[in-house]
Amino acid sequence: MIDFRSDTFTKPTPAMLAAMSAAPVGDDVFGEDPTVNLLEANLAAYFGMEAALFCPSGTMSNQIAIKVHTLPGDEVICSDLAHVYIYEGGGIAFNAGAQARPLHGDRGMIRAAQVEAAINDIDDDHKARTSLVCLENTSNRGGGCCYDWQEILHIREVCSTHGLQLHLDGARLFNALVATGQDPKQYGEVFDSISVCFNKGMGCPMGSVLLGSKTFIREARRVRKKLGGGLRQVGYMAACLQYALDHNVKRLKIDHEHAKIIATALIENDYVGKMMPVETNILIFEVKGIAPKRFAELLKRQDILVSVVSPTQVRIVTHMDITAEMVQRTCHAILNMENHP
Ligand SMILES: *Cc1c(COP(=O)(O)O)cnc(C)c1O
Repeated sequence: MIDFRSDTFTKPTPAMLAAMSAAPVGDDVFGEDPTVNLLEANLAAYFGMEAALFCPSGTMSNQIAIKVHTLPGDEVICSDLAHVYIYEGGGIAFNAGAQARPLHGDRGMIRAAQVEAAINDIDDDHKARTSLVCLENTSNRGGGCCYDWQEILHIREVCSTHGLQLHLDGARLFNALVATGQDPKQYGEVFDSISVCFNKGMGCPMGSVLLGSKTFIREARRVRKKLGGGLRQVGYMAACLQYALDHNVKRLKIDHEHAKIIATALIENDYVGKMMPVETNILIFEVKGIAPKRFAELLKRQDILVSVVSPTQVRIVTHMDITAEMVQRTCHAILNMENHP
């Protein structure tokens, strides 16, 4: 099977497994796992932030950040396509007792002027207190698009003017960094907190890291414990993340190239309609003439798996476990697709 359903399907390589089994470990709830401590220090340095916290999943690191940055009844501004809003089980309400203020942007990217207009008047008792803005880069439902850096700086300005915190859901921030060539420290300077994922496209079975100031991470650690996310000898997993950081970030550009190659084949397919610009490792396109489910079925006959993400759209995600040869086979299948029963 050639699995394009998600970049979450990647598996550890033998070298990763070797790094994991060689890791020195301790009880991380006691702060005594040297491999976890090293990973956290390395990532904090990588983004130029004060501190970091290993978390089991990206959902947990986002939810912890939202909980720490808000009080119950507060409002969180995000895009109407944001993972924190549509794919975290209503966690903003469940975990933080806060509510979302979803804004309609361009492919999941919102603008500074929209953010400013959505901030509630602090003196109006009718209104929820706006306390946090969450951005997502790359934007998953936006077809892996990268935020315009200038716009992020404008949003930062708005947040600073109005005393709001700014969190980045950077589940695929490494993809954005590779695609734009930006310095990760720029992100550390601008955001109050950042969550990055290693279970996307880089071979790790689990793991996300939350970054922020020392006081923020101190609170985040408490919340992680409350959510049951305090783990013991998790250095085995931290070693896998460290390996991915050292070896699997730069190669993301191969996934981006693979996505562009597949896009050129898709454009030639009669059933493919409007496609979102392909900037990183995600392709989202409309299917016309047949149902997206049927389109996926026709590819499945050729041992190619894709996902149907809306009643009109199909998504293809490239990742570490997709080889150049698989991309060629996929292009061939797309160019020679036959719709017979
Ligand atoms: C995958 C993802 C997450 C976190 O997912 P987990 O499976 O909980 O690690 C967060 N944000 C975005 C945009 C994602 O794509």
